This record gives sequence, C-alpha cells and structure tokens, in this order.
Amino acid sequence: MILIVVVGMIPMLLLEMVILKSYEKRAVDVRTAEIQNQCTILCNQLGDLSYQQGETSDIVRTEFVQLSNIYNGRVMLIDQEFRIVEDTYGMDEGKTIVSRDVIRCFRGSGEGTSHYDAQNRYIEVTSPVVGNASEKVEGVILVSVSTDSIEDSMMLLVNRARTIEAVAGVILLIAAFVIGAGTVRPFQRITGSIEAVTEGYEDNYLHENAYTETILLSESFNKMLGRLKVLDDSRQEFVSNVSHELKTPLTSMKVLADSLLSQEEVPVELYREFMGDMSEEIERENKIINDFLSLVKLDKTANTMNITTESINALVERVLKRLRPIAAQRNIELIFESFRPVSAEVDEMKLSLALTNLVENAIKYNKENGWVHVSLNADHKSLCIEVADSGIGIKQEDTEHIFERFYRVDKSHSREIGGTGLGLSIARSAVVMHRGAIKVYSQIGEGTTFTVRMPLIYVS
Ligand code: ADP
Repeated sequence: MILIVVVGMIPMLLLEMVILKSYEKRAVDVRTAEIQNQCTILCNQLGDLSYQQGETSDIVRTEFVQLSNIYNGRVMLIDQEFRIVEDTYGMDEGKTIVSRDVIRCFRGSGEGTSHYDAQNRYIEVTSPVVGNASEKVEGVILVSVSTDSIEDSMMLLVNRARTIEAVAGVILLIAAFVIGAGTVRPFQRITGSIEAVTEGYEDNYLHENAYTETILLSESFNKMLGRLKVLDDSRQEFVSNVSHELKTPLTSMKVLADSLLSQEEVPVELYREFMGDMSEEIERENKIINDFLSLVKLDKTANTMNITTESINALVERVLKRLRPIAAQRNIELIFESFRPVSAEVDEMKLSLALTNLVENAIKYNKENGWVHVSLNADHKSLCIEVADSGIGIKQEDTEHIFERFYRVDKSHSREIGGTGLGLSIARSAVVMHRGAIKVYSQIGEGTTFTVRMPLIYVS
C-alpha cells in the first residue's frame, strides 16, 4: 500500500514543482520583456527630446506615470552624474543613486539590463537613453516592478494543485488498499493452509494459481505435505506394526502357558516342547525391542563415535559366525570371500550392527537352500563390503524406499518373516556416520546385492 501511494504521489509532486517553476519563469520573462519594450519606447522618445539639459517634458512625465501605474512599479530617470532626475514616487529626486545595474547600463554600449529578485519579489529593468545627436548614453531609465500579481497567480495554482493532490491522494489510498489486499490475498490463504497443517488438518493441499511464485510455493507446499503424510503414515504403521509384533509373541506365550496350566498331568516332553516355543517367542520379542533401541541409540549417539583401528576381516568373520546358525536353519550357504587383509578406523559396534542387519536380511529374504555371499575388498582409500544373496529380490520402485524408517516391502510377508522395517535404516545410519555410502542392486526373483563403501581413515 505504502509503495503504491509513494509511487503515485512522488511524480505528482514533482510535476507540480516543475509546472510552478516554469510558470514563474515564463511569467517573469514575459513581464520583463514587456517592461523592456516600454522602456525602449520611452528611451527613444527621451533621446528625441534631448533631455540632457536636465529637463523632461510633461509628455515624458505623463508616460512615466502611466508606465508606473500599468505595472504597479516605480520609474526613475538617472543622468550621467547618477543623479535621479525623475522619480514617479517623487521621493528621491535630486539624490544620487549607486546601483550596479545602472552603472553597467552606462558602461554597456546601449545595452539595457534586467534582474529578478525572487526573494523581495520585484523585477528591475534598466534601459539606456541614447542621445540622438551625441549617440552617447546620456541617461538611464530604471524601472522596478513588483511581482506580487505573479505570486498571486502562483498561489492560486498551488491551491488548485493541492486540491487535486488531496483528491488524487485519497483515490490512490483506496486503490492502494484494494490492490494491496488483492495482492496479498493468495499469500494469506497460503499462511492459512500452513497454520491449518500446524493445527493438524493435513489434507489442505494448496492450489494458488494467482502468481508464478504462488504456483511454485503451492507445489513445494504440496510436496512437503505429501512427504509429511508419508512420514505420518509410516509412523502410524510402525506403531501398529510394533504393537502387533510385540503382542504376537505375548499372545503365543499366553496360549502355551494357559494350555499347560489347564492340563492336570502334563508329560515332561510336552512341557519341554512348550517351554522351547515360549523361549523362541521371547527371543523374537527381544529382537524387536533391540532393533528399536539400536535405532534410538544411533540417533542419540550420532556425534559420539568410538573409533578404533580394526581388522575388518575379523569383524566380518565375527558377524557371520553369529549368524551362521540362523542360516543353517534354512540350509542357506554363508560364504565369506576376502580379497586382502583390510584394517580401518571404524566404530566396531556400529559397523557390526550395520553388517549384521544386511546379512540377516540376506538370510531372511532368501529361498530355502540359497546362498549369501559376503566379500571384502579395499583400495588405498576405502574399503568395500558386498552382501549378495540368492533371495526373493526387491522391486525397482521399492529400492528407493527400503532405507526409510519403518518401510517394509511386503507387509504381510515381512511380518510373517519377522522384522520391524528398521534394519536397513539402522545400517544406513551407521554407514553414513562413517562418511560412507550404501547402495543396493536387486533383480526380482534372482537376488539382491548391498554394497557398503567407506573410507579407511575416519574423517571426523
Ligand atoms: P525388516 O525388519 O522388515 O527386515 P529392513 O529395514 O531390514 O526391515 O528392510 C526393509 C525391507 O526391505 C524389508 O521389509 C524387505 O522387504 C526388504 N529387504 C531388505 N533386505 C532384503 C534382501 N536382502 N532381499 C529382499 N528384500 C529385502
């Protein structure tokens, strides 16, 4: 609003100033020219009448008075001794006048002068009286005319201009208000939508097509909203998954315990079998809680890395040793291929966690009698661990999401297999904390390969 008013008013005020100045200059010029004309005529007459003896005819005196009346000014005739011979005010006759303009007029060969005093508001014009016979400057007519009438006209113009400016100002203000309100309305709607999202109404997609900027803003906002929804959905799904996962083992344990309690004479074998099942369920419960805690811990200790120089070959061996029994259960061959001894600066616990998750997945999402191939290699700068399997594979569109927290490809299948959707996000967090990168390549039905690359020397 302020901008519109300022941009509207400044040219108007400038225009007013320019017009007034031009008017004043033009009016003063015209008035000066008129007086100069009159003076020239008078001077010519005086030249003819040869006043130099100090005498002025009545005709000339009458002309002087006429001139002074017309222009509301004072007319004086000055002789070569700078004595005032004639004064229409009748005040200074006989006195000597020392004026720059008069002297200049005497000296200049027949040239008159003019001068405008804006402060005291008068125009002063001098005109030389050149004798017809002598052809010399024999006297000077000095006319001082008030410019009050010009000033009055200007005041009138200024008043008119002020009125027009006031009206234009009001119109501008109204226009500025209307335009300003219209301009910011789309942004107000955007703010409203953002506030609504903050309050929890997440379906407020934006479609502000008023300006290119609002279109871009709407698109970004909608993208952000979409992302928020995905995050929120996955969070909700995670909560329901975790509660389901936590409840399933508990339910099974309750059923097993109840059936044992309800029977009177239970054979020891049945006891052992049921207890074994219960132990498995406890193990599963433990796994879910551990996964969850690992992730929370990784988040919390993001800045605290416990870096030591480790033999990566030994580290991988340890991880595989722990997982071999699980692989054996499904008759999956677990092979480790090391191209050279590699030692690197790593956080042993975090890297083991990442590798465990990768190999565990390779076993979990594998076929019966399949294989998991882990290889370790290094160049002068970085190490590379590859975990390849002969498993079920991952669809191309899912590979972009599997590292997200709580993301699981086939929900029902994954639940059956067991898992929380946290394993890969734990693995990625751990690798990224080592300034490394993790990549996946997969062919549905054929298998998946995860590649971990990280620097040999830890950069903090
Ligand atoms: P989960 O606890 O469900 O295993 P992860 O974060 O470890 O969660 O993995 C996310 C999803 O990625 C899994 O649900 C699974 O569908 C898919 N996935 C992970 N690793 C493999 C693999 N080696 N082969 C096939 N699918 C895999």
